[in-house]
Amino acid sequence: MVTRQQKRKTASNSPSSYTGGITIKSRRELQAMERAGAIVGSTLALLKRSVEPGMTTGDLNRIAEKNIRSQGAVPAFLGYQGFPATICASVNEEIVHGIPGKRVLQSGDVVKVDVGATIDGFIGDAAVSIPVGEIDDATQQLLDDTRASLYEGIAAAQPGNRIGDIGAAVESYALERGYGVVRQFVGHGIGRFLHEDPQVPNYGEPGKGILLRPGMCICIEPMLNMGTEATKILDDDWTVVTADGAMSAHFEHTLAITKDGPKILTLND
Ligand code: MG
Repeated sequence: MVTRQQKRKTASNSPSSYTGGITIKSRRELQAMERAGAIVGSTLALLKRSVEPGMTTGDLNRIAEKNIRSQGAVPAFLGYQGFPATICASVNEEIVHGIPGKRVLQSGDVVKVDVGATIDGFIGDAAVSIPVGEIDDATQQLLDDTRASLYEGIAAAQPGNRIGDIGAAVESYALERGYGVVRQFVGHGIGRFLHEDPQVPNYGEPGKGILLRPGMCICIEPMLNMGTEATKILDDDWTVVTADGAMSAHFEHTLAITKDGPKILTLND
């Protein structure tokens, strides 16, 4: 799940969704983060194997919830600020935060699934964009490039680097390929809370922003559009769509910053 991009100076002037500053996890806490991440990863892997034309997004939600609970975890998104489901399921021009339901997936669609799970008090959060049946070449390229931009961002998430290095890496990769880079919604720190500091934008200036230190856990989650970066929110107050109706893709990992570099906690291949 992404968080809304916002400027904030202190906790006192922040909305109720604000859940504290930057947290540095202990070794034991990182182990819990790894357990949460593994459950999210296994759920995404299961969803990738499950998607086929004729299924509904509600079907995917049920598959995910069963898998999360069977591993002793609880869905992290269910009830979060009133979100009514276990997963976000966003189709085609829907970027993020789609509510799963009766929509039937058809060949040529792209469904973006975003999964969060909590175990032992810690949260994992990750997303993939899944092709339904046969998709056209340009759409496949968008998916490949968005995933690659995530890995560019992860490669920049080195201890001693800064948040701006991550955003600059994602943004330059995406802009070179002509995509719109969503700026209205951003990645985030994660731990006991789904959205902790710092915010992790998919744009930035190298060498600027919060210093990355071992023990920080963050979610990097590029949202790339075939058209412009502009977004709208539907009347359900959740679903974020491209303003121009163009196709969008989203990939996300939770990672831990370690002294040896970034460690992806939500692998799903
Ligand atoms: Mg997220």
